[in-house]
Amino acid sequence: MATQSSPPLRILVIGAHPDDCEIKAGGVAALYRQRGHVVRFVSVTNGDAGHHEISGPPLAARRAQETLASGAVCGVEYEVLANGDGQLVPSIPVRWELISMIRRFQPDLILTHRPNDYHPDHRATSQLVCDAAYMVTVPAVVPNVPFLKTNPVIAYLSDDFQCPYPFRPTVVVDVTPVFPEIVDMQAAHISQFYEWLPYNQGILDQVPADPVQRKAWLATQAKERLKKVADRFRAELIATYGPERGAKVEYAEAFEGCEYGSPLTAENAKKLFPFFD
Ligand SMILES: [Zn+2]
Repeated sequence: MATQSSPPLRILVIGAHPDDCEIKAGGVAALYRQRGHVVRFVSVTNGDAGHHEISGPPLAARRAQETLASGAVCGVEYEVLANGDGQLVPSIPVRWELISMIRRFQPDLILTHRPNDYHPDHRATSQLVCDAAYMVTVPAVVPNVPFLKTNPVIAYLSDDFQCPYPFRPTVVVDVTPVFPEIVDMQAAHISQFYEWLPYNQGILDQVPADPVQRKAWLATQAKERLKKVADRFRAELIATYGPERGAKVEYAEAFEGCEYGSPLTAENAKKLFPFFD
């Protein structure tokens, strides 16, 4: 838990869509919440396009309900911005929206997508966060919201893209102990994990109809994804947790310092990712 001498950390995870934060940072979110820290997930778009049967306001309303259910799993605050899904661009109005949002939340750490990614909304979100960095400290920019004295630390969520360079982890976290919470968060996004994503991948027929069985099916997918991260960054896990635990970590999440925030260093990483005692 956070102690009286150290106020709770304020962690802001900024994804493009309802479900991105859970996929890449659901584990650390659960770990932060276990220790009494404040976590907010933000979806920069309202998710109103990513489905094969519904779209527009009815889909946005459904996605909003799903974010509430996901946030309730661990007490994560969830904010969905009104920008249209699939049409996000790094515009000045959205940059100002993010500057205001970041200033009001006053994060110690921001997690977001890397700038190179298959999805245009992910790329735009990354650029918007990078464009808001530093500008959050400039008083004359969005002058009606008090500026921050310090540029927050920013780190990227992990991915598999290779160009222009592969993801380079600064911090790798064992999320094995909170795997059930990760699955619970993802399972709240019914329209994503049980409908749209399997439809888009051509595996909709594999999703069990029974609620218990389909959650087990989802857990298998989450295991594969998080095990891949642990195996890919096994050397970093061993360096962090020592040879015994590091070799045994089943599921991991990884984060890479972004140069446009305050630097993520080995020293402040211990404070910002307080999971390694
Ligand atoms: Zn997404």
